[in-house]
Formats: sequence, structure tokens, C-alpha cells
Amino acid sequence: MKTGFIYHPACLTHDMGPEHPESPARLAAIIERLERGPLWAELDIYTAHRAEDRHLLAIHHPRYLEQIKQLAPQHGMIHAGPDTAMSPGSLEAAYRAAGTGIQAVDGIMNHFYRNAFCATRPPGHHAEPATTMGFCFFHNLGIAARYLRQTYHIKRICVIDFDVHQDNGTVEIFRDDPDVLFLSSFQHPFYPNSHWQAEHPHMHFAPLAADTDGTEIRDVWQREWRAAIRAHQPEFFFISAGFDAHEDDPLGELNWSTEDYRWLTEAIMVEADTYAQGRLVSFLEGGYDVQALAECVETHLAALMGR
Ligand SMILES: [Zn+2]
Repeated sequence: MKTGFIYHPACLTHDMGPEHPESPARLAAIIERLERGPLWAELDIYTAHRAEDRHLLAIHHPRYLEQIKQLAPQHGMIHAGPDTAMSPGSLEAAYRAAGTGIQAVDGIMNHFYRNAFCATRPPGHHAEPATTMGFCFFHNLGIAARYLRQTYHIKRICVIDFDVHQDNGTVEIFRDDPDVLFLSSFQHPFYPNSHWQAEHPHMHFAPLAADTDGTEIRDVWQREWRAAIRAHQPEFFFISAGFDAHEDDPLGELNWSTEDYRWLTEAIMVEADTYAQGRLVSFLEGGYDVQALAECVETHLAALMGR
């Protein structure tokens, strides 16, 4: 079975201004590189469905959803948070980004493809149930995970987040849910500086010092995370795939190489194959050097495809 690649052209129309690092050029660079390369012809490519309000409401508060809908401008740009803005295309992009995860889950559970990559923007891992934050409106991964568990009665899942920023939204959503094993690496101290100590045994945090390379995450994986996965025996894996720990990234201050992402993806795949029949959905989160981002996504995808 192939790897699903799910995206929507509407995700290119969410535009927070020419100076904003979370730009349409990120997704455009990914698509352009993939179309030129050898993987495109071997991917199962899908246009994302639109998430329904009931999917979003499994994570987000009704009043928050209404606020976001009302805020969406017809013209120009409006600020939805200190670092997050909406353009006329943003609301549709956010609904499609959330829809990718639902579609990925359905595709995997119905055996259309083995695993999937959701080429989404806006990203999701900073979005809290009632708060827009860190370029995120809806928590795409949380929405997909809740849909999976409600629809297909999967109980134990594993969420891995290797974005350079800690995923405060994911912590908020899963902190009281011991069936979700949550493994998260991030630069520390760094944005958003909210939950850098693990408060629960099902959460494993790896705070990484600025200017360190990928050696540390490989150590954390071998010393701690792999054993945690083996004890949890997850039936499904999700990845918050941010590529802003890359050495070329202008926001992050870690020095991971593209090969570190390949190594980590392959390590995750071994566990997904062992415990979860390979069932895995990966979501694009950060990554702000467009060239490095496109290269990392291609490498990550090649690993997901077993190449
Ligand atoms: Zn990030």
C-alpha cells in the first residue's frame, strides 16, 4: 500500500502578509519540489475534504468557533492573535487543513493507503480549545485523533511532536488522557514557554538547549521514548512534523540536519509497523526556511514510503 498525500489549494490562499514567516510560499515550495522529484508519481494524492463543524467541536469550544468565523475578513487582513492573522482565504484554509486529518484517518482505516502526510497550513499544534496561537487556528492533529477514536474505537495512540516549539495546544488537549502517549521535543527555553515540564506519566518532554544538534534527540529516542512506546503499545501513531529545528531555520536555534529527520521518521516507522500495522498520520507544522522545509518534507515522505 502507498502513502497518502493530502492537501488543498485553499491552503495557499491563507496569507498573513509579506513579512510573516508562515507564508503560502512554504507549501508552494513543498509541492514544487515534490512535483519535480521522484516521489510524486508514487504517492496517492488527494484533495482535502472540508472538516465539518462537529469535527472541530470535538476539540474547540462553540464560542471560539463562532468567533473565528465572525472574525474572517472579506477584504484585507485582521489580527486573530498577537502573531496570527486572517486574510479572506484563511477560514477556508483552516477548514481544509482540519479536513486533511479526518480524510487521512478514514483512508488508513479503510486500507486505501498505509500511512499519510497532511500538507497543511495553517498549522495546528499551538491552537488551544479556545485560543488562537502561534500561527494556528484549529488543532488539526487533535481533531483527527478524536475522530479516529470515536469513529474506529481505537483506544491507545501515540503522538510525537518534533517541532522546535513546544506544542502547548497538544498538551492542553491530551494532558488528562493516559491512553495518549505523548512524546515531544523542543528547544528550551523558547516560545511558547508554557508547559516545559512533564506533569503526567503519559507525557515525555525532551527540552533541548539552543545550538545543539540532532545527537540529543537520537539519544532521547534510544534511552527513553522507544521504551515508552513499547510499554504503551499504541494502535495508531500521529506526528506533528515541524521542521524548524533544522540548522537553516530562521526561527529555531537548533542544528538538526535533514538526515536527522530521516533517522527519526524511520525509527518511528519501526514502532508503528510493530504495534500499529504501520498506521500513522503526519501533519506539517513549522519550518520557515522554504528550501530546507521542502527538502525535509521530501526526506520525511521518502521514509514514510519506505524508500
Ligand atoms: Zn514551530
